[in-house]
Amino acid sequence: MPTEQQLSLPECQQHIREVPVSRAIRSVIVHHTWRPTASNYRGLSTVRAVRQYHMKQRGWSDNGYHIMIGPSGDIFLCRPISRAGAHCRGQNQDSIGLSYIANFDSEDPADYPGTEIGQQVVAALLQRFSLTPDDIHFHREYANKTCPGRNLHLDEYRHQVELRTSEQAGDIKVVLLPGSQVIACRPRLEDGTTRVDLRPLATALDCEVYDHLADQGKVYLRKKAKTLRDLQHLSE
Ligand SMILES: [Zn+2]
Repeated sequence: MPTEQQLSLPECQQHIREVPVSRAIRSVIVHHTWRPTASNYRGLSTVRAVRQYHMKQRGWSDNGYHIMIGPSGDIFLCRPISRAGAHCRGQNQDSIGLSYIANFDSEDPADYPGTEIGQQVVAALLQRFSLTPDDIHFHREYANKTCPGRNLHLDEYRHQVELRTSEQAGDIKVVLLPGSQVIACRPRLEDGTTRVDLRPLATALDCEVYDHLADQGKVYLRKKAKTLRDLQHLSE
């Protein structure tokens, strides 16, 4: 029996990390419900009503969307991610459909905490399936609709998700042994590649980065050159 499950953001992030999915996922497609609007939202009963509409009126096996986001940031798992959705004609086999319960043609996404929570969920999906912000698409790219609403802008949305992705990645902790000194090296996501700056590590080792990429294709750490003052001190 199809049903829906409300999860907290950490629970949802864990579910996305761990749920077995054998179909290939190549995009995340963002929608709004249009009706019900954000002001119509009444929690779980609203999500159930959408599922019942999809099943009874459309004849689908379950809610067409995989994830629905309430205006206050409630997260609902709907159709299992392992199964193709029914949310975007021609794109369902290899995509995940996330829908905001709102009418972003007339309602302002900035007014609802759910907008950012949805971006956090999309960021978790990108990480799980090794996708980039360019793999986020709006329904209107594939259909003669405004979905997910005129007040959402794709470039800005992708940028916001990229910021959320960097936050979720957190610091990479390098532990030096022996001694177990922990050094935080902040990673950032660029075009789907996670780049980690190892300079904090070099600094902790009292070294500097000696860039020999051009002629040898290698980067070395070397002990910092003594300052003039240190040398003078030594000669005294
Ligand atoms: Zn849509």
